[in-house]
Amino acid sequence: MIDFGLSAAERDLRARVRAFAAAEIEPRREFLDRNDHFPLEIFEAAFEAGLMTAHLPADLGGGGYSTVDLALAAEEVAYQDAGVATSLFVGILPTTPIDLFGTAEQRERWLRPLTGGPRFAAMAWTEPDGSSSLFFRPGGTTAQRVDGGYLINGTKCFITNGSYADFVLLLAYSGPKLRDLSAFIVPTDAPGVRITTPYQKLGQRASNTARIEFENVLIDETQLLGEEGRGAMLALAGFCRSRAGVCAMAAGVAQAALDQVVAWGNQRRTGDGRPLVLQQDYRFRIAELETQVELARLMAWRAAWEIDHGKELPRWSSMAKLAGGGIAARVTAAAVEMKGGHGYMEDGRVEKLMRDAKLFEIYEGPIPIQKMLIAQYATKLRRGRRRHSHG
Ligand SMILES: Cc1cc2nc3c(=O)[nH]c(=O)nc-3n(C[C@H](O)[C@H](O)[C@H](O)COP(=O)(O)OP(=O)(O)OC[C@H]3O[C@@H](n4cnc5c(N)ncnc54)[C@H](O)[C@@H]3O)c2cc1C
Repeated sequence: MIDFGLSAAERDLRARVRAFAAAEIEPRREFLDRNDHFPLEIFEAAFEAGLMTAHLPADLGGGGYSTVDLALAAEEVAYQDAGVATSLFVGILPTTPIDLFGTAEQRERWLRPLTGGPRFAAMAWTEPDGSSSLFFRPGGTTAQRVDGGYLINGTKCFITNGSYADFVLLLAYSGPKLRDLSAFIVPTDAPGVRITTPYQKLGQRASNTARIEFENVLIDETQLLGEEGRGAMLALAGFCRSRAGVCAMAAGVAQAALDQVVAWGNQRRTGDGRPLVLQQDYRFRIAELETQVELARLMAWRAAWEIDHGKELPRWSSMAKLAGGGIAARVTAAAVEMKGGHGYMEDGRVEKLMRDAKLFEIYEGPIPIQKMLIAQYATKLRRGRRRHSHG
């Protein structure tokens, strides 16, 4: 049965997160952006509110939120600040594969401690020579088999929360072939791990982004997740869940831009003394933006629902990420233009929204990567190898 109405519990969750974000993030938003400040104080409050552990499994003390619940929460936090939202919810990437594919010992050892306080875990996929080509370029970061474990060498870049993470889920080649990409859990305090933050970001500046070097880092066999050579598949489970959240965050940022131009149109007067919002051209542009925001929200909810129901995960997640990222980029850019010179200025908020939105088209796989994944499904459909699921 199709039902787009939120349940009472979902409406309550959304209201709770909206109030949390307005109280904790809004007053500090500008400061965070101008000072590249990673707000541990906000993450502590988020932990108290149950948001930092929302994505972690309930049997280990986490919130056990559904992906739909996470999407609702991510939109509300991103409405106030996309950088805070990214850092708050990116833990889905490393923890989902451990939850789904880890042994009981691995779940207990790595996930339970995250529920005991405002702690972080990071996903370390990207390398200086290219994230998109990691599948096609054995080498880079390597995990060489040694007595009782592995020796890790290499460099990962652009790692969200890398400076604050207890551990990373690391993708490394454990052999010379393409199929040798494996996933390892590596604590960041292990000897040989070096973390730096050499980046000046365009947007989402409240989020921490680090470079991590691994030099002869010794880990034991229990830190291999799943089997050797299954790294890409394991990581994809995290990306699928997280990409639905990226679309939800994109909807939140686009909604914020839309609200800004509506408020601006009511306050600004045109030459005839009437509010700008009464001009037909302005109204039509608002109508376009309103439609786009709802499209992003619908895609986020649909992708999240598909994940919660175990269906066609990569297809819907990639379509949501592709659609949501583009919508947020276009809506925020339109908002800058609709506010005129004030839109271009730092105190107008929409310029920040535009800078923040751009990242949704880049991280967790840029546009061509999402298109490759979607096309894989679409072309199989056309060749009749599988039936299209409408439900
Ligand atoms: C702020 C921030 C946070 C991030 N957080 C994380 C994180 O937590 N963990 C992590 O592992 N990574 C993270 N990333 C990395 C991010 O996922 C990558 O930057 C992104 O996937 C693109 O990879 P790349 O930068 O290596 O660019 P490349 O893969 O080199 O791509 C460069 C350009 O080439 C295009 N391209 C690549 N391959 C193809 C192709 N086959 N066909 C056509 N065009 C192609 C891409 O679309 C892109 O425009 C983060 C990045 C940023 C900026």
